[in-house]
Amino acid sequence: MKTSVIAVDGYASTGKSTLSKRLADVLGFTYIDTGFMYRAVSYFALKNGFLKEEYIQEDALKEALHKTSFSWSKDIPSKLMLFNGRPYGDELRTLEVSSWVSKIAGLGFVRDHLVHQQRILSQLGGVVMDGRDIGTVVFPEADFKFFLVADAEVRATRRFDELKAKGEKVVYQDILKNVIDRDHQDSTRLISPLKKAEDALEIDTTNVSVETVLEQMFSTINSKS
Ligand code: C5P
Repeated sequence: MKTSVIAVDGYASTGKSTLSKRLADVLGFTYIDTGFMYRAVSYFALKNGFLKEEYIQEDALKEALHKTSFSWSKDIPSKLMLFNGRPYGDELRTLEVSSWVSKIAGLGFVRDHLVHQQRILSQLGGVVMDGRDIGTVVFPEADFKFFLVADAEVRATRRFDELKAKGEKVVYQDILKNVIDRDHQDSTRLISPLKKAEDALEIDTTNVSVETVLEQMFSTINSKS
């Protein structure tokens, strides 16, 4: 198969990363989680004191951003993305980071920087990339494009269960509000808003198993390969 880029976009917590990882594993492609990149920059901004109350110190962040780097760990096959040379995990998925990330992702200089990095990180052969603007902006020529949607309450329940399982003290209503707020900010921002590419296949993952969605994705891929 000649395919080299599969774009998986969609709303928050629609199952993008689980599905993208599985697709990448089966196809022998590299999985690139672009949400990780926006979250890593948000975490970095928080830790460096660039975010205060509702205010972002944009000049300081812009200057610091150019000294940061994304790279791949050498651990094959479970290749991990590193930020400034180190791996990150649950610290990027807290409600605090989630409540800043869409504001950070709305900044033009952050998007320019990360889109450039995403294109560099993709020069690896086949990639499955998930995010919000992959099929519209990062790789408008992607070989396959999927756009995932799901009921907000079902998505919030998934996030709530995930965070609780990791021992975070969370309130369901806060998670639901964050999911709705992020969707709103992501789809109404001026630069690269979240929207379905015209040629993307929309899949509703509400109450549908991962296996069923994967079957649908593979049947699309196989029918055109
Ligand atoms: O995918 P995930 O939910 O981890 O993404 C976190 C946030 O990063 C999104 O809500 C969005 O604000 C931003 N994002 C983006 N463009 C991408 C990926 C993520 O704006 N390609």
